[in-house]
Amino acid sequence: MENRTELEQLGEFGLIDKLTAETKKYHDSTVKGVGDDAAVIDVGDKYMLVSTDMLLEGIHFNLMYTPLMHLGYKAAIVNFSDIYAMNGDVTQITVSIAVSNRFSVEAIEEIYKGIHKACELYQVDLVGGDTTSSTGGLIISITAIGEVAKNEIVMRDGAKENDLIVVSGDLGGAFMGLQVLEREKEVYEANPKMQPELEGVDYILERQLKPEARKDVIHFLKELGVKPTSMIDVSDGLASELLHLCKASDLGCAIYDEKLPIDQETYNTARDFDLEASMCALNGGEDYELLFSISQNDYEKLKDNKHLTFIGHFTDKGSGTHIIDRGGQAVPITAQGWNHFTDNE
Ligand code: ADP
Ligand code: MG
Repeated sequence: MENRTELEQLGEFGLIDKLTAETKKYHDSTVKGVGDDAAVIDVGDKYMLVSTDMLLEGIHFNLMYTPLMHLGYKAAIVNFSDIYAMNGDVTQITVSIAVSNRFSVEAIEEIYKGIHKACELYQVDLVGGDTTSSTGGLIISITAIGEVAKNEIVMRDGAKENDLIVVSGDLGGAFMGLQVLEREKEVYEANPKMQPELEGVDYILERQLKPEARKDVIHFLKELGVKPTSMIDVSDGLASELLHLCKASDLGCAIYDEKLPIDQETYNTARDFDLEASMCALNGGEDYELLFSISQNDYEKLKDNKHLTFIGHFTDKGSGTHIIDRGGQAVPITAQGWNHFTDNE
């Protein structure tokens, strides 16, 4: 091979596009392959949903401040989240781990305690996996399987012009939680006798270490008779996910800075770190909230829902993708997200 392209030139999404461009489809049952939160497979009267996520020590978590039980819990949750993002229910998972002899049996059991806890709370069956040794860090890869009635499925590409853009919960907390943990790690490394300063940041630490997936949102939308027109979960950051919805639905968007749901703890901590809270909400990631669109006809049914915030609307593609700042200026949205091939993570 004569040419050498650096991974950072392509970025994560560019690489996925390149690797999967020539994917062939041999089965009619493959309804949707690469390009949504989960693959969609026709299994007769329903669609089966399949999604995989891998967590690597040193990239996605640091065991200095991540309790093993929380790690197992989070590894399961991030996978559940992708199935809910298709408006489906999670039914099974498989769990694959690679561990070195640095870990005791008890340590690995702790990870599984967390996985079992998540399975219990979300009513998911652990049905298999793989176990192997690793020369380096710990790796956990989980595949989640779910199901959805055919007429209930929601993909990234269904949004229409003027649909309202909605996000569940609040944003930026997991990112600020991570900043606090990283700061305390550095303080500890410099002086192990220092006590960590973790007062008043319980919520954002929980957002980072023990996130939840929004099964509740999927269920109450169903009860209220609202089917989103498009949906994605917020794993990489609101900006990046919005651009995915716009690209898939061939639309532009306008969202409003002042409407972004941000918890007070996130605000306060962002200020301590000299960061702008709305930038953390836009680009922080790991919120595992649901970002979706609804037809304006459904607005009344959701407008007072305390779990949801209306942040803007979809526009025609030509209008571009913008966030309207507090001065009324339209600023183009750029996806910073997490780029796994640069050194920011
Ligand atoms: P999410 O953030 O929702 O987990 P990703 O950004 O990881 O989704 O992946 C985007 C899409 O690309 C998904 O459909 C996923 O299945 C697919 N994908 C990711 N990596 C690969 C790969 N190495 N080979 C084939 N498909 C991939
Ligand atoms: Mg996703």
